Amino acid sequence: MNDLKKCVFPADLNSALAALSDRKSSPFALAGGTLSGKNIGPETGSLVDLKRLPLSAIKATASGLSIGALATFDEIENSKAVKSWAGGVLCAAAAKCSSQLVRNMATIGGNIARPNAFNVFPPLLLALDAKVKVAWKGGSRTLPLAGLYDGTLKRTPGRDCLITEVILPASSKGLKCAFEKFARTESSWESYITLAMCAEVKKGVIKSARIGIGALSAVPALAPKAAAALAGGSPGEAAGKTAAAALAGDLAGMRISPKSMEFKKEVAAALLRRFVASLA
Ligand SMILES: Cc1cc2nc3c(=O)[nH]c(=O)nc-3n(C[C@H](O)[C@H](O)[C@H](O)COP(=O)(O)OP(=O)(O)OC[C@H]3O[C@@H](n4cnc5c(N)ncnc54)[C@H](O)[C@@H]3O)c2cc1C
Repeated sequence: MNDLKKCVFPADLNSALAALSDRKSSPFALAGGTLSGKNIGPETGSLVDLKRLPLSAIKATASGLSIGALATFDEIENSKAVKSWAGGVLCAAAAKCSSQLVRNMATIGGNIARPNAFNVFPPLLLALDAKVKVAWKGGSRTLPLAGLYDGTLKRTPGRDCLITEVILPASSKGLKCAFEKFARTESSWESYITLAMCAEVKKGVIKSARIGIGALSAVPALAPKAAAALAGGSPGEAAGKTAAAALAGDLAGMRISPKSMEFKKEVAAALLRRFVASLA
């Protein structure tokens, strides 16, 4: 941060977006600061501290569950609304992030703003079909989470725009879900593989499924073959085996390092089989 000249602490969104629109000052937005402490580029001229923005509300509405971008992991883990959504899977994922100190500071917006293989929320939000609301001076847009990473947004969160809200669709409330971060220890950041598994089960039939994969590449991926293998079947051992075989096909199609890949495939298959059996 050799060129840092000013820090601003806006109390409303418009002031924050105005500060970020001053391109000459090469601005950088800071939320909890747990990740960007190491990543603030030397060119940054102004820090836009987001902590005073009123963007941490979590509320269930008719159209879904709305989570403010500044909601911390701790707030998410302990939110009643989140606990009663999709079996509380977001609470379980939040609890898997590092230590209580980090969870007190780290925000969901900071977790999804930049691609990072080991961040817990991107694969889960992908599996839950979440949308994100992004705002910039003079505009805003709501787009699927994947749009943050695949070039759809055409902006850089934290540099020239802000994520203001994460929205889970109303249809995700009753999903059966599991979040598995297979790592050396419960709280380890690095994970061999992260799987977020969501299924709609009605009258003993899996109507649909979405499986998000993390830790294998910077951006999360879906496992469409495994999801298709599950749709229309009955939960149980046999369906788990079929889905696990299909998941191997999804993983084979991903461009990832072959290092320890066989082990990761085995772990992923076992986690998926266990999830499908649990749906019965
Ligand atoms: C010791 C340690 C352990 C960790 N363990 C884990 C772990 O187990 N799992 C895990 O997922 N993460 C882990 N992390 C990473 C980090 O805590 C999370 O990614 C966290 O969610 C980042 O949020 P933040 O609010 O601190 O973001 P910041 O550090 O403030 O910002 C991160 C990036 O996001 C941008 N940004 C922040 N908020 C917004 C917004 N609203 N709109 C647009 N851009 C925004 C910033 O400009 C910056 O580029 C760990 C970090 C540490 C230091």
